[in-house]
Order: sequence, then C-alpha cells, then structure tokens
Amino acid sequence: MQWVWCGGTHGLRDTRGAPPLIGFFLSGSGRRVVFMGDDTWEGLFPKKFFRSYFFPSFNVKDLHTVDDGILQHLYPTVDSGEWDVLIAHFLGVDHCGHKHGPDHPEMAKKLTQMNEMLRSLVDHLGNDTLLLVAGDHGMTETGDHGGDSEKEVNAALFVYSRTPLFGSGPPEEPETIPQVNLVPTVALLLGVPIPYSNIGEVMADMFAGDGDTVSAALQQLSVYHINAKQVDRFLQSYSLVAQDLPAEQLQHLQELFSSAVEEHTQLLTQVQGTMVPPELEPRLGSLISRFQHYLREARAVCTQSWARFHPPRMVGGCILIASSCLLCYMASELAMSSQSFCHSCLLYPLFWGPVGAAVLWLVHVFTQEGLDLLLVSSWAAAVSQLGFFWHWWGQHFKRRLRAWLGLAFPMGILFFRCGAMFSDSFVVAEARVTPFLLASLVMLLVGKLHWDGRLTVPEGPKQQLLGFSSYRREIWYLLCLVAMLLVCVRLSSFFHQCREEIPQCRPSVFLSPLASLRNTRAKNLFYLLCVALLAGLVYAVQSWLRHYGNLNSSGPLVLFVRWGFPLVVLCIACYWAVASSADDSLGKLQELVQVAVVVFPRAVYGLASVGLLLLLCNPMTVFAKDTRESAGSIVTPYLGVPGSEVDFLHVIPQIYKRMQESQKSWLERGSCRATIAAYGLGSVYSAALVIALTLLGFLLMLLHSERLSFAFLLLFVEAFVLLHIHTLTLIALIPVGEPFSVPWYAVISWLLAASQFFYSTGHQPIFPAIHWNAAFVGFHLDHNTNLLPAVLVGANTFASHILFAVGCPLLLLWPFVCEMSNSQRKKLKKESREELQEVEEHMMEMRLRESPEEFSTALLRLGLKYLFVLGAQLLACVCAAMILRRHLMVWKVFAPKFLFESLGFVVSSICLLLGISLVMRVDCAVSSWFSQLQLR
Ligand SMILES: [Zn+2]
Repeated sequence: MQWVWCGGTHGLRDTRGAPPLIGFFLSGSGRRVVFMGDDTWEGLFPKKFFRSYFFPSFNVKDLHTVDDGILQHLYPTVDSGEWDVLIAHFLGVDHCGHKHGPDHPEMAKKLTQMNEMLRSLVDHLGNDTLLLVAGDHGMTETGDHGGDSEKEVNAALFVYSRTPLFGSGPPEEPETIPQVNLVPTVALLLGVPIPYSNIGEVMADMFAGDGDTVSAALQQLSVYHINAKQVDRFLQSYSLVAQDLPAEQLQHLQELFSSAVEEHTQLLTQVQGTMVPPELEPRLGSLISRFQHYLREARAVCTQSWARFHPPRMVGGCILIASSCLLCYMASELAMSSQSFCHSCLLYPLFWGPVGAAVLWLVHVFTQEGLDLLLVSSWAAAVSQLGFFWHWWGQHFKRRLRAWLGLAFPMGILFFRCGAMFSDSFVVAEARVTPFLLASLVMLLVGKLHWDGRLTVPEGPKQQLLGFSSYRREIWYLLCLVAMLLVCVRLSSFFHQCREEIPQCRPSVFLSPLASLRNTRAKNLFYLLCVALLAGLVYAVQSWLRHYGNLNSSGPLVLFVRWGFPLVVLCIACYWAVASSADDSLGKLQELVQVAVVVFPRAVYGLASVGLLLLLCNPMTVFAKDTRESAGSIVTPYLGVPGSEVDFLHVIPQIYKRMQESQKSWLERGSCRATIAAYGLGSVYSAALVIALTLLGFLLMLLHSERLSFAFLLLFVEAFVLLHIHTLTLIALIPVGEPFSVPWYAVISWLLAASQFFYSTGHQPIFPAIHWNAAFVGFHLDHNTNLLPAVLVGANTFASHILFAVGCPLLLLWPFVCEMSNSQRKKLKKESREELQEVEEHMMEMRLRESPEEFSTALLRLGLKYLFVLGAQLLACVCAAMILRRHLMVWKVFAPKFLFESLGFVVSSICLLLGISLVMRVDCAVSSWFSQLQLR
C-alpha cells in the first residue's frame, strides 16, 4: 500500500501532533519515504528520507515558494511509483493566515489552489493508495494559532482511497478524533510496529475491509488488541521510571486491560473451534468497546498528569515574588527614615512567619491531609510579609508617597526592560535591547542633569567661589565618560552568540577557541594580545592599589597581589598556550601536553582560592608607620563610660584625623614630629573588593575561550566608567545629594550592564548556547560527581552576573574613594584654602566609619535596591511564562528565558550577599586594627 500525506505545518515547531507520527516512518522501517515541502523537516530528520525536496519556510510572508516547489515535483513523483510514503507539506495556507487572515481574497485563491491540487492528485492515485489530507491546527479569527481555543486546536482530516474503505459507507456526521490516533492507524496500515510511546487509539473504520460484519469486527478486534498491548507495555515501563501517574489509576487501567485480554482469548478459542459461539456479533461489539474504553482511559490519565498546569500555584508564586519585590523596595526606602525600623518592620514579621506555618500545620493535623513542604514555606513567607505590610502601613505610608513620584525616570527604563520580557521577538533580540536601554538610561541622566541646570555655570556669588573652569571641566569629563561608555557598549556587541530564530546572524568569531584557528600567524597574534591583556589588567589593578596606597604593607594579601597575580597570569598564559596548540604537531610531547592541560588550570584554581582565603582571613591592605612617642597624646578621651561602644566610636575618627594631620605636617615640613602614618586606609573597603573581583575575573576568563578575555576587559572598563559617571553625578553635580544613598539609576544601570555582558560573553538564554566545555577546564572527561561540572558551567554562564553582583557595594564606596582626587584638584586651583577643611576631605571611606549606623543602613539599602531590580526582572519573566504558557514559542523562548533568569537571580543574590559580607568582614578587620592601635 502506498501513502500520500498532505498538510501538517506548525506541529513540527510547537510540538503538537506530527513529529511522533512521522518519526516512526523513518526509524528504519525499510519504507521508501519521499518528502517535499517545509525545510524544518531537514533539521528534524536529517538524511532520513529516501528522497527529499526542501524549500525555505522561515519567511511567513512568502505564500508561494514552498507550495510551488511541491507542485513542481508532486505529480512526477507520484507517477514514478518509487515510494512507499510520500509526504507533501504545504505551507501556503498557514502563511496566508498569518499574513492576511482567513477572510482575505488571497486565502480564497490559496484554498482554490489546494482544491485544484487535490482534484488532480486524486486522478494520479493508484487503486492501492490511501490519501490523507490533514491540517495539524486551525486558526483564530486573525489567522494565528498556538493557543488552545477551539478554532485553533480543531483541524480537518480527509481520508480517501479509490477502493471503498468503509464497510457501510462513510458516517453521516464527521467524527472528531484526537490527532494522536493517526499514529497507530498509519503504523498498522503500513505494517510497521506502533511506536513505543504512542497513547493514541486506532481508527477502527479503516480496518473494516470489505467482507461481512463478523470478519470486519474480528479484524478490528485484532488491531485493538495490538494497540492495547502496546499501550499497556508503555504504561508499565513508564511507571517504573517516572512516578507522575497516580498508582490507583494505573491499577484500574491494569484491571481493565487484563479482563479485556482474557475475554479476547476466550472468544478467539471459541471462534477457532468448530462451533460458532452464540451471539457472536454482540459479544465482539462489546469487547471492542471494552478495548476502546481502556485506550481512552489510558490517554485521559496520561494527558491529565502530563499536560497539567496549576494556575492557582502559578498566581500564588507570582504574588509571592511581587510582594517580595515590594518588600525590598519599601524596606530600602524605610531604612533611612526610621531608627526603630528593625524592630517593628523586620523582627515582628520574622515572628509572624513561623506562627503562620504552625497554624497551617495544625489545620493539616486536624484535617489529616498530607503536608507539602513547599506549601508550608510559601505560606510562612506570605504571612510574614503580611505582617510587614501591616506594620509598614501603620507607620510610614503617607510620608513615603511623595518620594515615589521622583522615581519616574529610572523606573521607566526598568519598566521597559520588564515589558520586553513579554514579547518573543524582544526576548530573542534582548542582546541588543539591553545595551540600548543602558545607553538610553545614561543619556537620559545627562539630559536630566542639564534640565535641572546642573551642567550650566551657576549664577550669583557661588560663581566666584567655585570658579568658571571647574564646572566646565566636569562637563567635559562627564561627556568623555559617556562617550567611553557608548564605545564599550558598541564594542561589546562583537562577542554575541546567535539564536536560531535569527537565521542571518553569524556567531562572533571570538567565541571559538584559538585551537580552531588555522592561520598560525593570526593565532599567535591573538594569543599574544590575550596575554598582554591579562598582564595589562594586573598592571592596572596594581597601579590603582598603589595610587591609593594599598600596596605598601607587607601583609600576606598585599604580597599575594604583588607576586601571586603575575603568577596566576603566567599559569593562564601557559594553559592557553598548551590548549591552543595544534594536537598533531607535537608528536612525542603529546603526553606532556595532556598533563599540562590539566595542571595549569588547577594551579590557577589553587592560587585563586589561596588569594580569596587570604582576603577573608586578613582583608587589611593598610600600611601603618608608627613613629610616635606616646599613644595617649593623640586622642582626646570621651567623657562617658570608658570602654563602651560609644567610646570606641568617638575615638576612631579622632585617631584618623590626627593621623592625617600628622602625616601631612610630616610631609610638608619634613619634621619628625609625626606619630602614625597609615597608607591605604581611605580605600581599604574598595581595595578588598577590587582584589576579589580581579581574582574572580581571572577564574571566569579561564573558563571562557581565550579571546573572550577582550569581552572581560570591556566589562571591567565599562563597570569602571559607570562607577565614575555615578560618582561624578553624585559628588560634583548634585552636591546636595545624600552620600549614603545610592540612587536608583545607578543600581539599574549596574544591572543592565550585568545583563548586557551576559550576552557579550557569548551566552544566550537557550540550552544549545551553554558553553559545556567549561566543565572540562582543568579536568579530563572524568567527573565523578555532577556538582563540580555544574558549578563550572554555571560560573561560566553567569560570569557577568557574578562579577557585577560581587562588585555592587562599589556603587556605595566609589564616591568616597574618589573624594580625594576631587579635593586634590580643588587644592591645585586654590592653594590658599584652609587646611582644616582639607583634612576633612581626606577622610574618604573612613567617613563611612564615622557613622557606622548609617554605613550599615546604606549597605542594606543598596542590597535591597539591587534585589528589587533583580526581582522585578524575574517577576516579569515569570509572568510572561505563566501568561504565555500556551504561546507557540513557549518552549523555545519563554520557558528557557524563565529558567535562565531565575538561575541568574539565585546566582546574583548569593554573590550580592558575598560582596556585602566581604565589606562587612573588612569592617570588622578595620575595627580590630583600630583597637590594636589604641592599645599599643
Ligand atoms: Zn503558522
């Protein structure tokens, strides 16, 4: 028997219907399968066809290429007879629906063309050929599909053969059958086994034959028997590996199956005997309906547990994320306003959470229902949040309302970013959307500053005080920074990976490892550039630290920065050299190379962990020179309870001021009256973060292919530029701004940069784009656990999230660090300024220690703001995946995006916590350093 199959389009793309049906034709059944039409099939079943004619299908606006191509080959192929199955996949009607809708004259033309095609095809068919014409989906009023409305999921099936198919004529009313029923029917008609995972039911009408009713019923019974045995085997083996089918329903199905089979065997033995059993016909009919019942029940059980969404749970999750975001927002706004904030708004809700969980547990104890851990924890979270809002509402609502109105500008950008998650084309093009939003945010910031009159020279007496040129220069400085940012954004687009949704896209050449380069000269050149870049990075970090005096001490950490950093670079350079050398050119050295490829990365891992450990143990990079004679002379005692915390807080700023004074007088007058000179105290927090970020940067660069280190360089430069723009805006241009508060635009731009470099380090939120190679940097193909490769691949994927989240506290610290250079510049201009003021302006990060309460509050607020922006993006992704769960592109675009975004959220939150705790660790170290100084 021969087959012609016409139709079925997007089933291939949205995982409905067709693939399981077609898959088995091609799985070595020995049939000659000829295909013509949509070239998506080439990707699905490469080289599986006896003969094939593929035509480009991607352009939805193109109504004719595929159809005309098929029509050109269809009749000659049918007439040649060199086929068993012929699949002709027309696309014109579907594309016409998308382009014009169902009621357009073009659609009439297209349908007429299809009608003509069928009319003449029927004339070309032989007597033993069956023609199946099917659409794999319908369309809505607008001509689209992918949803679950009646009009979309229903399509026509037309079956034709020249010899009569139905014993008793075709049914009056067309029957509705599930699409999966095509699978067993076609398989059995072709004489190949039913596919293993089929849950469809044979279309019995096609197996009636042309004999009497009893023989027709017997034939139908045999195909049902085969079908039921196949489904039973599938359910048995499926339930062994997966637990998602309910046991009692499986038991029930098992009973249905075995009783039907038992009766089937009985009946068969009676029929084969000499005596025809009484009432054969009704017994056959009832047995058939028992098999039917079994098959339908089985399908219902499967679809119930497989295609199941939990809308209440989805909505609950969304509400939980949304209220957490709101909580972060409000807490970040509250932290500054209230002293009793911690108690009323954080502690009570912490208490309410367990209480809520306990209540739920009690309810469950009384109702004897199973307890779901997930449910309990979300219930606890919800109750504690309710408690928070309750307390907040009572205290702070009206006061904060006014502050909300000032946020329109940065929040508008965030809103656009979140809104873009709801469109598949925006998600696909996100690699270009994020840099655009970042550039817009910065440009808008400059525009807003100008609008507020911050960029122009102020009039009045202030002008004489500050001078004309100082403002001028700051504008140019700002514009230079913005230009640098735009250049970075532009350059970073050279490192993008492609998605298959954009066929004309070519992946960046920088993504491939150096080993794949044929041209030796280019390879060497790139290699040298990459190594020079690493060396340059070390040089830049070291000079930065030296500039702020953090490279003078002889502590282990400083020694590590001096000597360990170059060593790390050396190891990475060696690894790159070994990894990029061509395998065959080395001959005997091959074994040595195999060892070196593993040893060098491990050395880097080891060195970096030593560095991070040193950083944790003693993060102080301060060099103290003690030349004083007596300790008591520099501190004015506090008139209170001695040794108390307040005493301590009172004393520290004094020590620091005195140190600054004496250092200066020592430098200026050359006298030895000085007491203590401390280098690098003013940037001690940032120095620790910069060292940590550099080490992390080395590790992450090692996990990427060599030439992506250019992207990392851009990342560091862009982060640096962003910090400077933020600092300049905060200090120079808005002098009234609160130094302890990091504005929203800074946080949002920081996160936009993190997303931008996710793409610019060669990643995409799709599974084929994951850099699996990262799992084998420093390891042969022999991982014992799954944890280590997961960590390596995860670190590779979320590299930019990690770096930006750890570096987040810099947003708070940088303005303080840059204070010195500002005041120095002012000093050059006005040499006759009072010295006292000069001393105060040298405080830098020690200003933070002056008011420890505000410092910790500022850190908390910064963390909360970061979490809020992260959470808002996650919420948008979750909502998009929930609302668009029936979208055509859900498994291709929204679901992977949701997974990557939520993993990124987790990674970012953890790294943010690590960054903040590093700052707090430095704070502890500084405290103990001061107390030691005081004791001496
Ligand atoms: Zn379509």
